[in-house]
Amino acid sequence: MRYQEGSGSRVSGRLMVAAAIVLFALFQYFMSGQVNPVTGEKQYLGMSTEQEIALGLQSAPVMARQMGGEVSDNDPETRLVKLVGQRLAENSDARKSPYQYEFHLLKDPKTINAFALPGGQIFITRGLLSKLETEAELAGVLGHEIGHVVHRHGAEHMATGKLGQMLATAAGVATSSDGGSQNSQMVAQMVNQMVQMRYGRKDELESDEYGVRYMVQSGYDPRGMLRVMQVLAEASQGSRQPEILASHPHPEARFEVLKDLLQKEFPDGIPSELTQGRRLQ
Ligand SMILES: [Zn+2]
Repeated sequence: MRYQEGSGSRVSGRLMVAAAIVLFALFQYFMSGQVNPVTGEKQYLGMSTEQEIALGLQSAPVMARQMGGEVSDNDPETRLVKLVGQRLAENSDARKSPYQYEFHLLKDPKTINAFALPGGQIFITRGLLSKLETEAELAGVLGHEIGHVVHRHGAEHMATGKLGQMLATAAGVATSSDGGSQNSQMVAQMVNQMVQMRYGRKDELESDEYGVRYMVQSGYDPRGMLRVMQVLAEASQGSRQPEILASHPHPEARFEVLKDLLQKEFPDGIPSELTQGRRLQ
């Protein structure tokens, strides 16, 4: 009798621990609701902005390696990417966010893609850059990625994905100063997730909208973003589908939404002080 009692309480003890873990995960999820300082929306995230930044900084070199490496900082194209990116980050609402933006040009000449890690690490491939004709188009691509960072789409995605994974990731990031191998494994896993991440239509259109806003605030003609959609649509006619289309809505649909948006924002036409910037090709 005593033995059975003991066994029963051991089982229920384990259950209690499991229940406590689940409750903690849920608690963490609901209590982590934070008001986004830039967009004002309440978001439920599994990680703090500091953790996002740490995660992004840790993941950036891993990401660059996986994508065939980064073009050197002295390269004129890298300088241009960084220049246009910083112009957006410093002159738009994005500067109100706590993130440190860094822009990277990836060597891969074939892959047509751009993406952002949580915390402000932003990447564009040479494959995509070579298709762009003006600085404003580049600003459109980078502005869209800044939109993902400011809206914390990456962290939000992780939070609404698998709670357990989110907690593991957050815990790994929190202890990042240890630099343990478990942590680097987690970063590698995260990078894989981020490259393939599909944010969904709403997030993408939101990033387009904010990208356009940042362009305008930085003096770029927002029609550069429309051109980006045409470039992507044209690239999708080829035999090889641009990688960016695997994770984004059809450029034709984004074009229509953007056109309506510009019509609404600028019923009297695009102000002449907004420019295309220099020609890239
Ligand atoms: Zn996107």
